[in-house]
Amino acid sequence: MYYLSILLGMPISYYLSHHRLSLWHRRGRSRSSLSPVDWAAGLLKQCTYLEPYTVTSDETLLRDIGTLNRTRPVVIWGYASSLHQLARFAGQRSIPLHRPRFIISSVEMLYPAMREAIAQAFGCPVYDNYGATEVGRVAAECTRGRLHVFTFNNHIEVLDPAGRPAAPGEEGRLVITPVHNRAMPLLRYDIGDLARVSKDDCPCGSPLPVLGKITGRVIERFVTADGRTVYGGYFIAMFYEHEWISEVQVLQQDVDLITIYYRKMPGCVIPSQAMAQIDDAVREVMGASCRIEWLEVDAVPRTPIGKHLHARSLVWEERQRRDM
Ligand SMILES: [Zn+2]
Repeated sequence: MYYLSILLGMPISYYLSHHRLSLWHRRGRSRSSLSPVDWAAGLLKQCTYLEPYTVTSDETLLRDIGTLNRTRPVVIWGYASSLHQLARFAGQRSIPLHRPRFIISSVEMLYPAMREAIAQAFGCPVYDNYGATEVGRVAAECTRGRLHVFTFNNHIEVLDPAGRPAAPGEEGRLVITPVHNRAMPLLRYDIGDLARVSKDDCPCGSPLPVLGKITGRVIERFVTADGRTVYGGYFIAMFYEHEWISEVQVLQQDVDLITIYYRKMPGCVIPSQAMAQIDDAVREVMGASCRIEWLEVDAVPRTPIGKHLHARSLVWEERQRRDM
């Protein structure tokens, strides 16, 4: 986050000494995985953590708005869909929200309507940030709305279908080589997203190169039979602790039908209760009438650009298309 703070004209001392609020999963966030700056910030207790929304309820949103207005963070950092939900909820009920200096959106696609709704509800600019667990921070927006690449963190390439560098303005596969990962080197990692190269300098004055639009990031929401929405990450998290799963995709085919495509780890036996427990966890959020089918496959389905979506909802996609 401090890379971003610098890009937005906020020195590290400001980042350390002002309160922040993070709508982010804390799962697996051990002390040893924190950067020195985040570790120091943690010592100063300048950050409030809230969980992103898996199952949305009025109580949760009201409680989080209370926390937000009480802690008065200078920066809010969170999942695009969670920020959007919070903003819409407060807007529909005319609940006043504390105004931070800016908001950083991450993990999911920040669609223009979402950005507008968040900016309006919080009364501050919203900046998009792009990264991935495998490679860390990749790029972030500056105050002029351009996406700057953190070249000190990753070497990135945009390649055409033949594997050659894409021409400026042309869309191509984004291929990333982290430069700091000494434990697990990754060379030319195809992250499954598309991007465009831009040759324009940015008027903000940052020397970091500018990347055109990135498309393809999706962690979707599932739609229940009674009209609620559930964050797709909930279904992904159900498989974190199961060693017998090699690959999985939870696909919502219809409001009351979920298909779980899975590939077993070679040689592993599925514990007898494991699938039943997952079925229960799915029905807990989707409703008791939800049907769940398991399909063992050699490889889980990929999107046309080859991205593995761990959780996908055809109902949500249809709804997004309708609302466009
Ligand atoms: Zn810029």
